[in-house]
Amino acid sequence: MKPMDPATDLQPMPTEHLINELQSYGVRLVDPRAGADSRRGGAGPSDHKALTLDGMTVMVPVHTAPAFESPYLVEKPDAYGRSRISRDGLVLGEVSFPLQPKFYGLSTADGIPYSKIAVLHGRDVLATTVLQTCIRYQSRTKTCQFCAIGQSLAAGRTIERKTPAQLAEVAKAAVELDGVKHMVMTTGTPPGKDRGAAILTESAAAVKAAVNLPIQVQCEPPDDDAWFARMHAAGADALGMHLEACTEEVRAAIMPGKAQVSVERYFGAFEAAVPVFGRGQVSTYILAGLGDSREDILKICDRLTRMGVYPFVVPFVPISGTPLESHPTPSPAFMNSILGPLAGMLLATGLKSIDVKAGCAKCGACSALSTYERQNSAQGGCS
Ligand code: SF4
Repeated sequence: MKPMDPATDLQPMPTEHLINELQSYGVRLVDPRAGADSRRGGAGPSDHKALTLDGMTVMVPVHTAPAFESPYLVEKPDAYGRSRISRDGLVLGEVSFPLQPKFYGLSTADGIPYSKIAVLHGRDVLATTVLQTCIRYQSRTKTCQFCAIGQSLAAGRTIERKTPAQLAEVAKAAVELDGVKHMVMTTGTPPGKDRGAAILTESAAAVKAAVNLPIQVQCEPPDDDAWFARMHAAGADALGMHLEACTEEVRAAIMPGKAQVSVERYFGAFEAAVPVFGRGQVSTYILAGLGDSREDILKICDRLTRMGVYPFVVPFVPISGTPLESHPTPSPAFMNSILGPLAGMLLATGLKSIDVKAGCAKCGACSALSTYERQNSAQGGCS
């Protein structure tokens, strides 16, 4: 595909800029059933659909308010699953949709569809929310305002607690039938001081006993740093502890419950976890567009990259039905102003998404960051 930039007289648009635009504006789909089912609700980013352009699979908003007015339109796929994409009526090229995975057709012996236990993310990532409830989700005053962890549960698209045996069964099938390459295990935060580390430990152990699949576990910093070694010994290859926002003010406003765990506690946990998992195998998710300035985000990314933590910066996408459903997405220019310098920091500190063993930083579908990384290393410098 040779994307063109209508704003610059049909000069080719760099792929990373096109991804920023698609993730900021979303796309309108002529055929909403094209490709694998889109994700609605759930923990973390949602209301996206995976589409492949220039050989890369990216998650693009399709069910959000901005997407309904997006200048980008994806036509109905042809017999080969290819669709034309246009901007304001001008055809830019072709995209395709990853197909519905085969493991979605199976159910456990007790009748639970595998797709309620884990889902395909991007092109080759198996993702699950081990515990679909969260102490932070109980009241409007505590909830993370971007999160929809309860929506998919209420709609019956998932089950509350995925057992280790269920996860192992689905992971094995997803590897054998669909060739998934790594797995993301996230969790709502349960009551108790381990903040989910215990259920992630038992889940990782069960999956690893069934199939050789790299796993990233994601949780809040547990009370005791000894959990990092336990999770790693159980089979977790990578760890995500997600700041979501960088400054205490924005964190307190957007996620009053989770903000009780301070940024400094996150840094203490990163410091303890990096020697266990290795440089670049610990990551954090930062949602750009929640109120932190470019400088706030780059400052914290500088600190993170120097200590060997991969900051996966993604554009905030409002999810329908959440308190932030009308919050605007960040502009493509704002994302460009962060991801360019961040790719330079990653290059300077030797952190690469392709070296991450499992998880969001490796998948990269929710951000253009890995495309900036590739551009930067090809140019051998910082932008
Ligand atoms: S980056 Fe993470 S949340 Fe986004 S599609 Fe990939 S695995 Fe899922």
